Amino acid sequence: MSDEISLRASGLSTGYGSLRVLWDVDLAVEQGRTTVLLGANGAGKSTLLKALIGLRPLWAGTLTYEDQSIAGWSPERRIAAGMSYVSETGIFAGLSVEDNLRVVATGMSGATLRQRLERTYEQFPLLASRRRESAGALSGGQRKLLSLAKGLVRDPRLLLMDEPSAGLSPLAVGEMVDTLAQVVAQGGVTLLLAEQNARVLELADVVTIIGGGRVTFAGPIEEFRSTADVAEQFFGLARPEPSAGAPEET
Ligand code: ATP
Repeated sequence: MSDEISLRASGLSTGYGSLRVLWDVDLAVEQGRTTVLLGANGAGKSTLLKALIGLRPLWAGTLTYEDQSIAGWSPERRIAAGMSYVSETGIFAGLSVEDNLRVVATGMSGATLRQRLERTYEQFPLLASRRRESAGALSGGQRKLLSLAKGLVRDPRLLLMDEPSAGLSPLAVGEMVDTLAQVVAQGGVTLLLAEQNARVLELADVVTIIGGGRVTFAGPIEEFRSTADVAEQFFGLARPEPSAGAPEET
């Protein structure tokens, strides 16, 4: 496993208008290792991903990708350099499945586009069978699959994905986790997943917790699991368990 750093943010701050949302965030995404960015609703996960891909400006701090400073780069330049971003919704419901894939292939030659579409359909056969249908006719899980496929069309080396589990049933979350595990197993792309669903931790090599716009924990998954108060701190917010003193059913 490589310990080379793909993306590094140091002292990153940003926000909206006069509202500061992220405070002095440090984040290091190691190449080839899956990082899960955990946080409750409103913690600042989406804002951080947007700052990393260039959709929010940095108010302070530095940002490097593959050892180059990218803070002033447009999202298009970051994408051309091998980064990819999948938002929580991630699809155009009014377009067909195939047109959703073509939209992100702008600038590719016809031959490359055909090859990428073929590869996408081999990897995600369900999308092949639905290619002519409107993306809006897909189920929640299928839409997520399409948004992931869109994120992979350009062969990124770093994929930022916002809440792969959002809006999905427990069964569909399990399927998405399995799909992401297959993407990791194929190699070539490093994942940074923003999440609040503990199931996605199955994929994590490294966990970063964000709370109130600040990083409150960062470390390997083993350290996360063995540090009881860290796990409790997060699960206490996101997955309340029945209290220990609750009467047992008889
Ligand atoms: P969620 O899981 O709900 O998306 P999150 O951890 O991704 O949560 P963000 O969406 O980054 O959190 O939101 C962080 C804070 O920024 C929240 O207080 C939110 O209200 C605020 N915020 C997000 N987007 C905007 C915006 N476009 N304008 C103003 N404030 C915003």
